[in-house]
Amino acid sequence: MHTIAELRAAYISGEKKPSEVIKEVFAVIEEKNDDVFAFLDVFEDALAAAELADAVYEKNGAGTPPLLGIPVAMKTNILIKDKRATASSKILENYTATYDATIVRRLRDAGAIFVGATNMDEFAMGSSTESSAFGVTKNPLDTSRVPGGSSGGSAAAVAMGAVPVAIGTDTGGSIRQPAAYCGLIGYKPTYGAVSRYGLIALASSLDQAGPFANTVADAELIHNTMAGQDDMDGTTITDDTYPAVPVKETYTIGVPRDFFTEGVDEDVLRAFDTHVEELKALGHTMVDISLPLFEKGLAAYYIVMPAEASSNLARYDGIRYGYSAPAESLLEVYEKSRAEGFGDEVKRRILLGTHVLSAGYYDAYYGKAELARKKMREELDEVFKSVDLIVTPTTPTPAFKFGENTDPLAMYRQDIFTVPVNLTGVPAITLPMGTVERDGTALPIGVQYIAPHAGDARLFALGKRLYDERR
Ligand code: GLN
Repeated sequence: MHTIAELRAAYISGEKKPSEVIKEVFAVIEEKNDDVFAFLDVFEDALAAAELADAVYEKNGAGTPPLLGIPVAMKTNILIKDKRATASSKILENYTATYDATIVRRLRDAGAIFVGATNMDEFAMGSSTESSAFGVTKNPLDTSRVPGGSSGGSAAAVAMGAVPVAIGTDTGGSIRQPAAYCGLIGYKPTYGAVSRYGLIALASSLDQAGPFANTVADAELIHNTMAGQDDMDGTTITDDTYPAVPVKETYTIGVPRDFFTEGVDEDVLRAFDTHVEELKALGHTMVDISLPLFEKGLAAYYIVMPAEASSNLARYDGIRYGYSAPAESLLEVYEKSRAEGFGDEVKRRILLGTHVLSAGYYDAYYGKAELARKKMREELDEVFKSVDLIVTPTTPTPAFKFGENTDPLAMYRQDIFTVPVNLTGVPAITLPMGTVERDGTALPIGVQYIAPHAGDARLFALGKRLYDERR
């Protein structure tokens, strides 16, 4: 059972019961997780929840909540009451959440059953899940390769067939890139569409939670369940925040060719060109557009994101909660807890972020990056006056091998097409765009569609037609 739609139909007809499906989920995890390591924790109490769901289906059939009995895997930076939420960091190794994130509450209210917490890059910093403090996750399609990151565990959980959907977070590409590497749908909502309450913050002005799924319809259902204004997050938007974005039959789609500079794999470009031809054949109007500032996206991102991360991570001081190193003085507790609790990539970004925010450098770095971000938004608004959507490859390459991108800058280049979306706050979806062959294995790649603010419905509508209907 690959999709929510299939499970739901089988539950309603009585062909299958939620408890049987949860047992299947556990069986797949049992069989594959030692190798793939998508899950850090498995929630045994999911079975009891499923047995309750069995009874409710028997009684109410189609009159049950839309996600009743649907197994969902959660990235371990999302708080589920009484479950561990570690952000894959040693500093939070023994942290148990005391409340539900808003998105968890909404999924739970719709009947979803949480089956486990998934691995990730430590504090969501990375593109390969190699920076987790608890071990690497492998790409189920080729276990010599990374699943992408930072939500690599969530992507792998779906790709290995354990769950139909998993939730991730995307600050600079952490849903879209692993979805592309694992052949899945990945969705990054409009900033503010989904509440961040109960997410372990990385960069608060960029973070959004979203789904991994096998169909666009499933991703849409999960997104719509999680989305909506929330009093616990003042940045959540309402229907009045942005002008309505209509869904149409065909679109004018912009292709920012000058943005596909060096470092983009030739096979990826070829597959992209084929995809553009298909779009034309389907009646869409393809136009070349220019987004010169988008190329500055990575530079701005690697100032804004570490700056916000260094502030957000200041709370892990070894005193209030999380890992605490025994030491002689208070200062030493702070220093040792952070030195021992955080991994290298996290330390690198805290240093970088603290530096760009420090007196004397603030204007030169952080102020400039925020200005660049404002200009990028203006550039995008201008482009969206003449196009309905923008299309790019999701990533410059297919999944790489473990240890292949040890240079941080090489790793950061993975995000070239995804970070401008977070910096400008617009929504984007990645759909599978075929495969490219490496060492005799067909590796999936993705195509990214970007819509104007609050254009989420437009992305889902197009995605369903381009992908679901042609599966
Ligand atoms: N790979 C990017 C980074 O390392 C994006 C991370 C994310 O979206 N959480 O920052």
